[in-house]
Amino acid sequence: MDRRRLEAHIRERGLEFFSRIGDAQPSLFNKDWWTGRVMDACMRNEEFKVQLFRFIDVLPSLSTSDSLRRHIEEYFSREESVPGVLKWGIKGVGLGGRLAMRMLSGAIRKNLEMMAKTFIIGETPSATVERLGDLRKQGYAFTLDQLGEATLSEPEADRYAAGIHALLDALSEAQSGWPALGEGEGALDWGDSPRINISIKPSAMYSQAKAVDPAGSVEAMAERLKPIYRRVAEAGGFLCIDMEKRALKDVTIGLYRRLRSDPEFRDYPHLGLALQIYMPESERDLERLLEWARREGLPISVRLVKGAYWDYESVVADQAGWPVPVYTVRPETDLAFERSAELILRHHDVCHLASGSHNVRSVCAVMEMARLLDVPQDRYEFQALYGMAEPFRQALLDLTPRVRLYCPHGEMLPGMAYLIRRLLENTANESFLRQTFVEGVEAERLLEAPQAVLERTGAQAASPASDEAAEASPAPSPAGEPEAPGPFRNEPHPDWLLPEVRQAYARALEGVRSRFGRTYPLHVGGEDVETDEVADSVNPARPEEVVGRICQAGPETVEQAVAAADAALPGWRDTPVRERAGYLMQAAAAARSRLYDLSAWQTFEAGKQWPEAYLDVCEAIDFLEYYAREMIRLGSPRYLGEVAGEVNECFYQPKGVSAVLAPWNFPLAISCGMCAAALVAGNTVVYKPSGQTSVVGHTLLQVLREAGLPAGVFNYLPGRGSVIGDPLVQHPRVSLIAFTGSMEVGLEIIRKAGRTHPDQPNVKRVIAEMGGKNAIIVDDDADLDVAVPAVLKSAFGYQGQKCSACSRVIVLEAVYERFLERLLEAARSMPIGPAEDPANAMGPVISASARKTILEYVEMARREGTVVYESDVPAGGYYVPMTIVSDITPAHRVAQEEIFGPVLAVMRARDFDQALAWANATRFALTGGVFSRSPDHLKRCRREFRVGNLYLNRGCTGAIVGRQPFGGFRMSGVGSKAGGPDYLLQFMDPRCVTENTMRRGFVPPQEHPAL
Ligand SMILES: Cc1cc2nc3c(=O)[nH]c(=O)nc-3n(C[C@H](O)[C@H](O)[C@H](O)COP(=O)(O)OP(=O)(O)OC[C@H]3O[C@@H](n4cnc5c(N)ncnc54)[C@H](O)[C@@H]3O)c2cc1C
Repeated sequence: MDRRRLEAHIRERGLEFFSRIGDAQPSLFNKDWWTGRVMDACMRNEEFKVQLFRFIDVLPSLSTSDSLRRHIEEYFSREESVPGVLKWGIKGVGLGGRLAMRMLSGAIRKNLEMMAKTFIIGETPSATVERLGDLRKQGYAFTLDQLGEATLSEPEADRYAAGIHALLDALSEAQSGWPALGEGEGALDWGDSPRINISIKPSAMYSQAKAVDPAGSVEAMAERLKPIYRRVAEAGGFLCIDMEKRALKDVTIGLYRRLRSDPEFRDYPHLGLALQIYMPESERDLERLLEWARREGLPISVRLVKGAYWDYESVVADQAGWPVPVYTVRPETDLAFERSAELILRHHDVCHLASGSHNVRSVCAVMEMARLLDVPQDRYEFQALYGMAEPFRQALLDLTPRVRLYCPHGEMLPGMAYLIRRLLENTANESFLRQTFVEGVEAERLLEAPQAVLERTGAQAASPASDEAAEASPAPSPAGEPEAPGPFRNEPHPDWLLPEVRQAYARALEGVRSRFGRTYPLHVGGEDVETDEVADSVNPARPEEVVGRICQAGPETVEQAVAAADAALPGWRDTPVRERAGYLMQAAAAARSRLYDLSAWQTFEAGKQWPEAYLDVCEAIDFLEYYAREMIRLGSPRYLGEVAGEVNECFYQPKGVSAVLAPWNFPLAISCGMCAAALVAGNTVVYKPSGQTSVVGHTLLQVLREAGLPAGVFNYLPGRGSVIGDPLVQHPRVSLIAFTGSMEVGLEIIRKAGRTHPDQPNVKRVIAEMGGKNAIIVDDDADLDVAVPAVLKSAFGYQGQKCSACSRVIVLEAVYERFLERLLEAARSMPIGPAEDPANAMGPVISASARKTILEYVEMARREGTVVYESDVPAGGYYVPMTIVSDITPAHRVAQEEIFGPVLAVMRARDFDQALAWANATRFALTGGVFSRSPDHLKRCRREFRVGNLYLNRGCTGAIVGRQPFGGFRMSGVGSKAGGPDYLLQFMDPRCVTENTMRRGFVPPQEHPAL
């Protein structure tokens, strides 16, 4: 294709396009109306925009006029009164007082609902069908999208599917009354295109779909989609699978292929797939799809869009430590759009193109490329969103015969989420529509080729394609440069979308399984020590499977280990801080290089699901990297005071031999965190892993050994708590005890450590992280789409065996029934089984005795409240049913005692005051959560919800090193927060040296080294 000629055509066509638009304004931007004024204010005032969009988000949940008024005041009238723009055109606002506020609130709601209605074609099938008929009369075809809440459970997925079936019934009935569009023959639009066209959300097809389990997800989604597609085919219609968030991209493509190649449908070609081209990965996906279509002899149809989740994908990637998966400058996306459109047009014999853009340049590029490539009219069409840019769509229809509008249908509540996506899109600086209709950028500029824009602005360098290599490589290994490590960065979280990540995990499981049953010796004073007594560590999902055989320490080996640690102390204490930090960073590098292996051991020995296990190892690496840097910070002496003739030097020294008593629930992360802190601060360590996870404990030894720690500095001492716990805690040479575990054991350690031995050189310090009875409050305006899955994950993630787990959910009366219904349906949908199968959301608890204790609590729950859900569990293995008990108040023991298993108490609170009082009404103060969209309630919780880690509008587990320092107070523990700036201080004693630098009245000029 002659590029210069193409450009000239695009320019010409574009100018014609703009001339047809003329001065017309889309209703969204028309300042003669309320909506236009409000949009204008959003674009001029970012703060107002944030408040407004947040308010729109909460609006559907405000069911009473009081709550509506309260929220309007909270969101908008912090200073004096509701911003003028919101009152614009509303009668009676001048009156003032309560009545006026009520009128104003009602009017604002009405106006916002009207705004939503501009994007939603109808709320009921009959209204929708009628409006579609009108659109068709104007010459537009349609694709209908059924709006819905997030699909959290299988019944919700069924209801979504049932809604589509109902729509299809209404459409089938109506279509005979719709004359075909265009000049073709027969009932088909333009002679070849089905009149009924629907778009479906893949995430609504299966509530448990997840990137980590693509095969299972595709299977389950296809199961639900097949009857819908069958019905579509019966009606002679077309079905397009939308593309949503990146995490489900490959699952969605898999679903498309699965359905397209299904023997039942191979001969029915009316199946389309949306591809989001703002992701560089999508071009590769497109190429593969085209190859596949050709190979299989299956014509396909692709709706090419730029993508609606740009901000979301950027933020998620940033939080997970991934390279940005989307282009970072819009011309890159525009260019990819044109490249991909051309590719499809060149393969028009196997792929039909639907161009989904409101960008005149992009659209004209497609038109002109199609013309120059002689692509027949029936092989491409143009699509636009209903309610966006009416003048654009009219001009489009004037210039091309085939225009289809994407029409959302359904209720207002889910419609609000859709509205926000559209408003975000339209108010973004990058938006073509905004640039055209609001900024008034001149046509020539708007029609400029994306490549030329990139060259002109030099923006290309910022795109992820060029950053990819640098970003994808792990942080530079600090091993060679302990002098100057870079800033701390969290270890990237696993991106399960990547096949190589999933395959590596599956391979690691196989590899680890082949090493089951080995014997693990103690490690004392740099030597491996075998003992006669050996204990088996088993797979909790199959207790007959021995993961490893662990040599068991006795009181005499405690003596040897403490002696070895004591002997190594002076040398280690005097090792320069940067060198000690260097060992930690070497250990981090070792752990990073074996990340999958280390995770796989946890899946088997601790029963941790893939994501949970992988994140545990990430956290361990974070602790190593973070504490190394923290110690470098704390290792430089500080000079205090600036008084002539005096130097005050403050610095730290280690406490001495440290006993680290670790739990099984974060068998590497917490072990590693406590040990790394002790070590880098200059202490030597005797480490007792939990009896249930001593093989994982041994992996910590392996990592530290690889780092080359000197002999005796770290001693691995597995053994029974009842045998070696007391000798270790009470040993006179042990100066510090770092413990994480239950409150009972923690308090016992504190008591025993307080008894001083005559030969004891130090008063022992105990750092004890203990339990929690953590509550999440669900306010009456909470977003249940977010709250329900977050509560489930917090309560049942890793079987509820986290000290941070949610064990009480306190729900306000107004949303109680709805919340409980959705919670129960979602809980019932969660598959339970061995953690090694990534399809399972919950696995076995750690041991037979844990199971027994938890089951006793389930019985107690039955007596104290109403057990509203008790799941089935697989046979064999230490499984406990996922249990939800309602009618619980703070007076009940299940609301007070830590259960450490998958038991969730649901409490119905009268109002927010009561919810907050109940949340605080336990002896513990570890984590807490609040789901609320009331700024005032959130503010109040910051102050009055007294826990160590409070999470607003997210789940209450999963603290991240350096971002959410973790730990509580009251009976939840003593000590400063792990993964935070105060943690290392506990492992050291501060010292201060003061020198009088004056001799006979003479003061050296530079008495203060820091000056
Ligand atoms: C019929 C139809 C169906 C659709 N179906 C889907 C779907 O299934 N899934 C989906 O995700 N979206 C879908 N969309 C929405 C679509 O993604 C957006 O409407 C579209 O991206 C807006 O692009 P534009 O060409 O109209 O506007 P433009 O203003 O030209 O482009 C805006 C787009 O550029 C991208 N962008 C914005 N900022 C940047 C940046 N800094 N760097 C790089 N790129 C940037 C974003 O994708 C943004 O949406 C659909 C749209 C239509 C018309």
